[in-house]
Amino acid sequence: MNAVCARLDLKAILMAELSAARRGAVEEQSVHGSTPAVVAADAFKSLRLPNHLTLDGLVEIVEVLRGRPIEIDVAPVLNGGSVCGLWLSTEASEIILHAVSPSALHRQQFILHELGHMILRHDELGVSAEYAESLFPNLNGELVRKVLNRSSFVDEVEAAAETLADLLAAAIRDSAIEPRSFERIFG
Ligand SMILES: [Zn+2]
Repeated sequence: MNAVCARLDLKAILMAELSAARRGAVEEQSVHGSTPAVVAADAFKSLRLPNHLTLDGLVEIVEVLRGRPIEIDVAPVLNGGSVCGLWLSTEASEIILHAVSPSALHRQQFILHELGHMILRHDELGVSAEYAESLFPNLNGELVRKVLNRSSFVDEVEAAAETLADLLAAAIRDSAIEPRSFERIFG
């Protein structure tokens, strides 16, 4: 499931602004990797998620993985733009900012997408604080160590995060199905 803005991200801007050197480094990484679907499926399996999964439970799991708390906040400033969510990684915490959405499922998907980036360690692709600051001048560049936004400069990175978000959403959805209704269907 995708919100419209999920498909319209900052890719164009980033592609235009990225240096050839960085683009080369990223391409090198994807050459050594698998397809986004395989990357996402492998990451999903490695999480060894409990049978009953909630968004809050998943956030706790990713907090352990990242070794710091995750703060999630709504950022109305993201509305009307092409970015639905933003991940700011600081020494103290991981911060997810997401657009306002009347749909709880969309909101969950924005968050799952950013969690997908965290799980896949996309911050290690190395967007510099200076570069992040140039993209988002209203943010404190000194505080923000790394920024990885909803959109990205590599299709594969975005596809992997979104595919992982879809797998996580399915796991949460399946967890919400009551055992009794399973019995009715399969019993
Ligand atoms: Zn993304």
